[in-house]
Amino acid sequence: MTDIPRLVPGGELVSYPPPEMWDDWEEYDAKAWPEKVKNRYHLVPTTCFNCESACGLLAYVDKDTGDVAKFVGNPAHPGSRGRNCAKGPATINQVHDPERILYPLKRVGERGSGQWMEVSWDEVLDDIDGRMRMAIVEDRHNEIMYHVGRPGEDGFMDRTLKAWGIDGHNSHTNICSSGARTGYAMWMGHDRPSADFANARFILLLSSHLETGHYFNPHAQRSMEAMQSGAKLATIDPRLSNTASMSDIWVSPYPGTEAAMLLAIARLLLEWDAVDHEFMKRWVDWEAAVIAKAPDKPVTYESFVELLKETYADYTPEFAAEEAGVKPEGIIEIARGIAAAGHRFSSHTWRSVGSGNLGGWQGARCLWFLHVLTGSVGTVGGTSPNTWDKFKPKHWKMPPPHNKWNELLWPKEYPLAHHEMSILLPHLLKEGRGKIDVYFSRVYNPIWTNPDGFSWLEALTDEDMVGLHVAMTPTWSETAWFADYVLPMGIASERHDTQSYATYAGRWLGFRQPVLRVAGEAQGKEFERTYDANPGQVWEETEFFFDLSWRIDPDGTLGIRKWFESPEDPERVVSVDEYYGWMFENSVPGLPQAAAAEDLTALGYMRKYGAFEIDNNVYSVHERPSQGGVRVDGLEKTGFATESGKLEWYSPTLNDWGWEDASIPTYLKTHVYWRDMDLAGSERILLPIFRLPTLIHTRSGNAKYLYEISHGHPLWINPGDADALGFETGEMIRISTDIGYFVMRVWRTEGIRPGVVAASHHMGRWRLDDEQGNARWSSALVDLSRKDGGWMLRQKQGIGPFKSDDPDSERIWWQDAGVNQNLTFPVHPDPVSGMHAWHQRVRLTKAQEGDRYGDIFVDTGRSHEIYKEWLEMTKPAPGPGNLRRPMWINRPIKPTRDAYNFRD
Ligand code: SF4
Repeated sequence: MTDIPRLVPGGELVSYPPPEMWDDWEEYDAKAWPEKVKNRYHLVPTTCFNCESACGLLAYVDKDTGDVAKFVGNPAHPGSRGRNCAKGPATINQVHDPERILYPLKRVGERGSGQWMEVSWDEVLDDIDGRMRMAIVEDRHNEIMYHVGRPGEDGFMDRTLKAWGIDGHNSHTNICSSGARTGYAMWMGHDRPSADFANARFILLLSSHLETGHYFNPHAQRSMEAMQSGAKLATIDPRLSNTASMSDIWVSPYPGTEAAMLLAIARLLLEWDAVDHEFMKRWVDWEAAVIAKAPDKPVTYESFVELLKETYADYTPEFAAEEAGVKPEGIIEIARGIAAAGHRFSSHTWRSVGSGNLGGWQGARCLWFLHVLTGSVGTVGGTSPNTWDKFKPKHWKMPPPHNKWNELLWPKEYPLAHHEMSILLPHLLKEGRGKIDVYFSRVYNPIWTNPDGFSWLEALTDEDMVGLHVAMTPTWSETAWFADYVLPMGIASERHDTQSYATYAGRWLGFRQPVLRVAGEAQGKEFERTYDANPGQVWEETEFFFDLSWRIDPDGTLGIRKWFESPEDPERVVSVDEYYGWMFENSVPGLPQAAAAEDLTALGYMRKYGAFEIDNNVYSVHERPSQGGVRVDGLEKTGFATESGKLEWYSPTLNDWGWEDASIPTYLKTHVYWRDMDLAGSERILLPIFRLPTLIHTRSGNAKYLYEISHGHPLWINPGDADALGFETGEMIRISTDIGYFVMRVWRTEGIRPGVVAASHHMGRWRLDDEQGNARWSSALVDLSRKDGGWMLRQKQGIGPFKSDDPDSERIWWQDAGVNQNLTFPVHPDPVSGMHAWHQRVRLTKAQEGDRYGDIFVDTGRSHEIYKEWLEMTKPAPGPGNLRRPMWINRPIKPTRDAYNFRD
């Protein structure tokens, strides 16, 4: 939190500088104390880029040095309300990192050899546009792929890819949230929840993933408000997270058994009749459920309730407790809390069960069931579909949908996958299912982040599979090291984007902007491109893709250029001011009026405040009248985004696409089911997905403040397990997966349940060269070699002090870079959601002779076999209507109807 009073001239203490003084703000220099040294700043609002939740930041641009001095919270931002987590202010480290990439780099040696030369943006664009033009002219559209990790924007790239007419959008979502999204989408069409934490009386979290690592600040501040008003918090998580430790109830089940517990809670709610029957009767498609699942019963609501009771009769608290390895009392206590809260019950799940387990998507489906039963959908203190609380502005001059289908992204085996099957890309390429001519990775580091990273390394270094790899990144990464171009892209204060996320029952839009450009222009300076104002030649995607698109089609014959011509002068490329000016003026309700009241343009308003609240107190949107909407009690209503327009306990889609048994909220057996393991021997369940609230995947690697806080990477193990296996804290052990092993140190702690071990997914950064590549604040120097047909990665040196322009680099006192455990995980694509099931069955043994801390061995041949084994579980397209995929389920950059027709 940055709500720290600051001393200003005149002796006053203020929490935040008032916006009317942002153009010229004086503040004493805290470091100069006890001297009173005054500094003058231009405060420019922008949006944090260090996680998805897009909190507001205020950049202090020093009027004397022209440099950014620090970042604090933006009090005018409705989502974050002036507060940030540690990652927000640490943006300053990323700006001033002495090792950051400041100029475009082109590979001059072999891929991965570490030989680079600096090139101009002009040369970069010339090379890439030629290849792309050729691919489009030769109708090789599917050979262009844009693969994004953290987008940080909303709709801009959709528009760009549509303008190019390609089905080339790839995302990181199936290592992140495809599981939870599927669970929610099958109920209501909307794929994520928006909890009204601040007004809740009872909050249930299936792990605290989003609340401690991702939406940390906006969610946490509202949950705490609720708790201050007497709300109870329950956390279900095998691990004692920070949030679990602050909870009223912590239940620690075996991973993958959560759905059984949730169904036991549902059963109790039904038994106690703690059910909002009016809501269910109006909003659940119970007719379809009775017809499909109880054909012998009359089609009445009463039959539906009977059907529910019969379906879940076996889910007693005792059964669920036995299944989950917990006591029934915790389950009953949560059920009581939910029943008492009624409409004021809010909940959240994102990763955890959904991303850890085969069938994990049912976790979100069973959790949402509790909201449907209690009617806490869209209520004050309840939980809404996230689309009600997120604002998507229209983008200027949107191109029509394309008509392509890219089998490398949407293979026929996964017709219900919520997002692209990105984890399979190396395997699909190896099987010859296609090739890529131009591959953009953007703020994405699959070699380090994804499971099976060495398969990525093999694909990305094979020029027959990937012709040209362009890594667009604000920081070095393991993946960028193997690219052909490394293009430095701006961080939070160096780029334009719009963002909006569901953080409370209201909608807002945030504007990220290059603060040095904005501050410079306020002083009368002119910049043709953002890289003229940013450090070095750091650019931004918005202008990069404007210019690239123009160059792909300089004479307009491909039909691309027209989407990027300035509305003022079609002979030049559109400017960011024109683009975002149009958006703010024409598609954000209330913004032009608010701007006019201050004698500003809509763009001027967003440049001044960095955010705008469109509405608040958004509840019960499904009840709003809507012509052509779903009919309820004779009236047309907005309803939900399913085919029926109602909430679907029974999903005809799942049924019709071959998943009859999973068509209702149910409990599916995980691939790491504890009863199938040799827990009396050396096997345990590895939970590798928990976050540290202070780190952010790849991008925090060059944030020294954050690594000073978080720099240990132990394997959490319960003392009972440690005793059984003879492990002491600090001892090195070997952890073997199905494709290899890694060596780590043990931490005995009661914070993890017996049978389960855990290691954060944030650590384990590595670099192959001591002089360049990944930041030395966070990475180990390693050797990478071939061994026994596989890959061996061995640490040569941990983190240590180094010389640089920043004196702090010689004060580094931490050593542990951690272990890149993800390299040793095979892909586990869930056959329904497409989500990678992260949890691993591992064998724990003492380190062997010659093992060293951080050793990693992987057999990528074996990982390809496991990919094929999981492929066997799928139910490939075509589905009903000879479709590749149900039309109603969202997918990024949806093509035309014709593209959905299955062609083998
Ligand atoms: S919660 Fe996310 S967006 Fe907000 S300050 Fe932290 S990292 Fe930045």
